[in-house]
Amino acid sequence: MARYTGPVCRLCRRERMKLFLKGAKCDTMRCPIERRPYPPGMHGRGRIRESEYLLQLREKQKARRIYGLLEKQFHNLYAEAARQKGITGENLLRMLESRLDNVVYRANFAASRNQARQLVRHGHVNVKGKRVTIPSYRLRKGDVVEIREKSRSMIVLRHNLDTLDRAVPQWLETGDMRVTVRDLPIREQIDVPVREQLIVELYSK
Ligand code: SF4
Repeated sequence: MARYTGPVCRLCRRERMKLFLKGAKCDTMRCPIERRPYPPGMHGRGRIRESEYLLQLREKQKARRIYGLLEKQFHNLYAEAARQKGITGENLLRMLESRLDNVVYRANFAASRNQARQLVRHGHVNVKGKRVTIPSYRLRKGDVVEIREKSRSMIVLRHNLDTLDRAVPQWLETGDMRVTVRDLPIREQIDVPVREQLIVELYSK
């Protein structure tokens, strides 16, 4: 599946906030948001006319960029979320959180979702004992994700496990190079700065 390959820090600047797309660099003063906290481009510091549509669009773009999806994938996911029972916005976030690359990132195996995606793509991850190389693979309650035996000595992985101190969410249980999905998350357990209701309003126009 295609993915965005352009400059990622521009995406944060466009949303005027840190989206933590780069891993270690995000927590340092080298983060461009620290020095240039305004949108990129020659009109970045100009006045922007706020509108309802703009707010909704920015919220959707933010969510899409945090999880690294292109528009079509994101819209398809929304359509699926809308077909499910329950609150559409919550369904959407739950589906985004239960992606394999996101769980690998949440378990601190990777410094960013991009890196998690690469770990999955390169075949370093097993799900329920079988190798899975699809970053969008949707995990379910009880699924066990583990780093493959051969990949456990990778320097990048060791480094991440030694240095990353992000709290692992309660709906995941981490162990020795493995993470188990205890249950799918409820909204309160998803700490992304996204107002999902605005996304629903945008797509239901
Ligand atoms: Fe965003 Fe990280 Fe780049 Fe800062 S360093 S702008 S948080 S991706």
